[in-house]
Amino acid sequence: MSAYIKSNLNKIHLRIAAACKRVGRDPTEVTLLPVTKTKPSSDIRKAFAVGENRFGENKVQEAKDKAEELEDLPIQWCMIGYLQTNKVRYVARFAAEVHSLDRIKLARELDKRLQHEGRSIDILVQVNTSNESQKYGLAPKEVLAFARELPNFSALNVKGLMTLALFSKDQDKVRPCFVRLRELRERLRQDGPDGLSWDTLSMGMSSDFEWAIEEGATEVRIGQAIFGHRPLTDSYYWPK
Ligand SMILES: *Cc1c(COP(=O)(O)O)cnc(C)c1O
Repeated sequence: MSAYIKSNLNKIHLRIAAACKRVGRDPTEVTLLPVTKTKPSSDIRKAFAVGENRFGENKVQEAKDKAEELEDLPIQWCMIGYLQTNKVRYVARFAAEVHSLDRIKLARELDKRLQHEGRSIDILVQVNTSNESQKYGLAPKEVLAFARELPNFSALNVKGLMTLALFSKDQDKVRPCFVRLRELRERLRQDGPDGLSWDTLSMGMSSDFEWAIEEGATEVRIGQAIFGHRPLTDSYYWPK
């Protein structure tokens, strides 16, 4: 099993490099975020042993349990799923990053709890680029006004944008979601608040990460192509 995860990670790093090369990008511009939801802590140890030290988790309770089981390792936990405001006090203690900021109430609560802990964390703003009602995130047209509020929260180090594209095998339907996120970044760089950086574009998963890289992703979030198939359907994570 250890060899399985190691060899999958190798393959993904090679595919990331190849996708970069196709569009003339430097592979060091693209970070892999291994996503470990539903997978045991022992899998995370195996990935850590071959050089990964940031991991994405979707649910707070699961992430918190794993952070405790793996507290002997210097892991950066990234919360990439929908965050309920009442779970934020846990997140403020163990998470290094939140990639799913999508409302001011959540920003306010996170900032308050982080101030209380004497910490700050990296933040991505989640955008719903596919316009599907079951996906979380701000509508693209809401993002600029939202971004202008964020300098009020000094414990939130804003780094960029995150999205989930349309689930489809048709790249003509998927790519426009990635393009939308990239264009939003341009808009924010021009008209967004001073002092925040929008460099990170977290987009692309197991099924679509190569298209995302070709469209400018700086981070790809990959679970199943590294750790194997998940028994739970996606609707568990993106309920209707
Ligand atoms: C699970 C998940 C991923 C990774 O999906 P895979 O199909 O396992 O690659 C990416 N982003 C988010 C927000 C997720 O919850």
